[in-house]
Amino acid sequence: MTDGQSEKSVDKILWVAVIGAGPAGYYTAEALTTGRDDVRVDIIDRLPTPFGLIRAGVAPDHQSIKNVAKRYSATNDRDNVRFVGNLSLGRDITLKELQKLYDVVVLATGAAKDRELGVDGENLPGVIGSSAFVSWYNSHPDFRELAPDLEVASVAVIGNGNVAIDVARVLAKTADEMTSSDLAPHAADQIHGAPIKDIYVFGRRGPLEASFTPKEMGELNELDNCVALVDACQLPDPLGDETLTGAQKKNMIALRKMAQNDANSKNIRLHLMFYRRPMAVLGDERVCGLRLEKTKLEADGSCVGTGETETLPVGLVVPCIGYRSAPITDVPYNERRGRFENQDGFIADRLYCVGWARRGPTGTIGTNKPDGVSMAKKILEEVKPDNRAGRAGLNKIVQERDLKIVTFADWKKIDEAETEAAANGAPRVKFASVDEMVKIIEGE
Ligand code: NAP
Repeated sequence: MTDGQSEKSVDKILWVAVIGAGPAGYYTAEALTTGRDDVRVDIIDRLPTPFGLIRAGVAPDHQSIKNVAKRYSATNDRDNVRFVGNLSLGRDITLKELQKLYDVVVLATGAAKDRELGVDGENLPGVIGSSAFVSWYNSHPDFRELAPDLEVASVAVIGNGNVAIDVARVLAKTADEMTSSDLAPHAADQIHGAPIKDIYVFGRRGPLEASFTPKEMGELNELDNCVALVDACQLPDPLGDETLTGAQKKNMIALRKMAQNDANSKNIRLHLMFYRRPMAVLGDERVCGLRLEKTKLEADGSCVGTGETETLPVGLVVPCIGYRSAPITDVPYNERRGRFENQDGFIADRLYCVGWARRGPTGTIGTNKPDGVSMAKKILEEVKPDNRAGRAGLNKIVQERDLKIVTFADWKKIDEAETEAAANGAPRVKFASVDEMVKIIEGE
């Protein structure tokens, strides 16, 4: 495997290694290299596939959001940007080694770990955090074998963000509704054969505090086989609508419709339940229920328990309560915030972070663009080239260690094989194993 990209000769090259080939990494690479032939960026990822959350996080039925990958591909087509896939920090190479080779290392590693609920029973089989669950239905190789037990009648999804809505919707949609998606075949088999009848989405605060966006809320009223429901008593008085933000107003329109929906109109019911926080996951061998406490809002917008509890029988619990960055050896880490300790992206001399690794798991894909632009500006102001070995140095280590790195040209072979395998309007059938991808690259 070769990188297939030309080296231009410029006196002083600033060598940058971006770790993580997701949106934050690509926007940073784009901003670092636009109009500069004195900067070279290697985007390193432990997977053979680029684009991070676009591939493994964005819902499989939200294909239009994934179109942004074309922009990242265009960045990768530049002479001064290279994708180095299947190279894992920690396993194949250390941060110290990369810092020796490159003038700058930028951590764009996202937030791949699930936040913990902090209640009894959360480690029982049948509790699967959204990071794992979403990765599983999106064919992430680490979760190919997750095989969640979906032979259940009721599911609890905890959290009132867009990830909770994604998970509930993907569980609720029919096979027909998912034909033009890239839902993993192993997940499709299980989801579409599951006997799920009730999906509960719990928010510890109210509908006005939820971070769902209107498009995602609206979609819940359009499902073929699933009716979305909410108790009208939990919704605010329309008389107060004038004080709401645009997004809140739109969410209220969707919620008020749900309050009118007929619970018996479709096979699956999706219940949005506010003002409830999880107290314990119940079960011996595996999950059989969830204990919740009703809550009320304080003046500062936080919630407190009322002391009133209820128990709901559920066979699967999917906490969608946010993510944490995975710590990296020798990089200062803020345990409370679940991200690297940094000052506007600066971690230490010649070491920066960007995207979710910098600011925590908030914002849409597009939020990473200004983040990448400002980080590139900061780096170009603060770091000067220092005659480092850069790409040639990395190539030497790759050769010495006999590492099977994946180039962008290699990725295009994977991409082609995945799109060729698709049928019935699906955009692709993703490989869910690194070995399968390497075989495609090697022409087997
Ligand atoms: P999020 O929007 O921050 O939502 C997390 C939810 O978890 C909040 O409702 C939060 O409640 C709740 N929560 C946190 N800790 C909890 C606990 N211990 N018990 C009960 N509930 C708890 O995060 P997300 O849904 O993971 O999404 C991450 C980011 O990706 C967001 O910016 C989101 O908009 C974005 N995203 C966008 C799309 C899209 O555009 N289609 C799709 C997916 C994700 P509180 O509010 O009370 O803290």
